[in-house]
Amino acid sequence: MTATMPGSQSSLREANQRRVIRAVRAAGSLTQAEIARATGLSAATVSNIVRELKEAGTLLVTPTSAGGRRAQSVSLSRRAGLALAVDFGHSHLRVAVGDMAHEVLAEETVPLDVDASAEEGLRVAQRLVEAVLRRAEVDRSEVVGVGLGVPGPIDTRTGTVGSSTILPGWVGVSPQDALAERLGLPVHVDNDANLGALGELVWGAGRGMTDLAYIKVATGVGAGLVIGGRIYRGSGGTAGEIGHITIDDTGKVCRCGNRGCLETFVGAPFLLELLRHSHGELSLHQVITLAKEGDQGSRRVIADAGRHIGVGVANLCNLLNPQAVIVGGELAQAGEILLGPIREAVDRYAIPSAARALTVTQGALGERAEMLGALALVLHESELLPGDVVT
Ligand SMILES: [Zn+2]
Repeated sequence: MTATMPGSQSSLREANQRRVIRAVRAAGSLTQAEIARATGLSAATVSNIVRELKEAGTLLVTPTSAGGRRAQSVSLSRRAGLALAVDFGHSHLRVAVGDMAHEVLAEETVPLDVDASAEEGLRVAQRLVEAVLRRAEVDRSEVVGVGLGVPGPIDTRTGTVGSSTILPGWVGVSPQDALAERLGLPVHVDNDANLGALGELVWGAGRGMTDLAYIKVATGVGAGLVIGGRIYRGSGGTAGEIGHITIDDTGKVCRCGNRGCLETFVGAPFLLELLRHSHGELSLHQVITLAKEGDQGSRRVIADAGRHIGVGVANLCNLLNPQAVIVGGELAQAGEILLGPIREAVDRYAIPSAARALTVTQGALGERAEMLGALALVLHESELLPGDVVT
């Protein structure tokens, strides 16, 4: 036996183990046949690797039924590490701890004026992290990383919040560095729309897809783009700012400084303004409830928002030709009242072949999409080998 053979064999074995772990981690759980398809490895090789990793305590193998047939479901064990999610909205903070099998062990949400102060937001985040770790009976040493969601553009070169008008209390702050320092853990950061896209891709309406757009419609409007199975962030991290495409050059002035952006037609403050004269002061939640109960004015306002979003979606469709557009954010709770007009506008404005291939659907995860996306971000970004497993 030569000195180099065992080395190259073991490095091949390690590379194959890594492929299996990566495939299982990305999907949450897979059967052995699905692992073979996802990795291109033979069934016999997969079977050997799964047995080795099960003995090492990295993988869990549990009985399941796939399409009525009995099969073995393979997932990463708790010993492979846990992930934390810290999701800042404009008016709430959501924190969760989850495992590599994509199961949420504990979560907490509090209302919070996030825009006002980064310092206060990060302090509350630290407190909620301690609370969910305690509730899930998890030791901090089991956590491999933190996924952080921020409701504004992150400059990917500097890691700082990129816009003074969208998050005034966070300008110049690197939320990633500040949270990493407070928690003593590696932190991965992204904006809320990208995390919503990742959440729906890994856990929700986009499972199994490779090309989709997630459009978040709430106070603001943004899109997370998945191209070839990966989030597309652009050169500086601002890809997907669909809320600021121009609909009417002479329209209302937008917070970005431009006029007549899509957001000035469909953002919550603008919809509520349309109803103030006839309906008085309402919340977006109340407007959605009224629309579902048949209130004509509320239905009209939401349907018109759908038509405007549809114009943006049609343009997106012509450029990127995605399989699906998944609509999330609070306005998505209006369901077909919003989605129907989006589809009609897409049929009218997109080229027929792109429109035909497109599914427009409501997100499956509701207001938890961004939080679950933050967990998925950790699962995707931290490298993990059997040797790294916490024992
Ligand atoms: Zn704008």
